[in-house]
Amino acid sequence: MSAAARNTMLANRRRDTGPELAIRSRLHRAGLRYRVDWSLPFDRRRRADLVFTRVGLYVFIDGCFWHGCPQHFVVPKTRTDFWVGKIEGNRRRDRDTDERLKQLGLTPLRVWEHTDPDTASAVVIAAYRTLERKGATTLGSGRRVSGTTEGA
Ligand SMILES: [Zn+2]
Repeated sequence: MSAAARNTMLANRRRDTGPELAIRSRLHRAGLRYRVDWSLPFDRRRRADLVFTRVGLYVFIDGCFWHGCPQHFVVPKTRTDFWVGKIEGNRRRDRDTDERLKQLGLTPLRVWEHTDPDTASAVVIAAYRTLERKGATTLGSGRRVSGTTEGA
């Protein structure tokens, strides 16, 4: 395996560092609150990186190596078949996860770890606001969230 691939893998094992933390701090600053590393409702072994329970938004910050990013994934030179199978399996599971969340009326959102944190957090915030508006419409006028500063 190349040094680059090994470094990517090591980087993916560290929690609370790098791209994920950069995105989280921006979301927090924007006033959003979320759960971190949260189990999925249909499978306790699968986890989302960030979950906004109130609006049903499940965010996955996918590592370029493990999830087979088209821009950065490089097949390791040793045990090639193993790695190709492994990454394909991960991608299949990602699609299955998204599908099952949708079936439950929840919203999956994936961003690559290579995405600029400003861009990634903007995408998450936009998705959150859209769901929030949709939820407000669905719930009707009977339910009002206190302390909102919407429209500011
Ligand atoms: Zn990438």
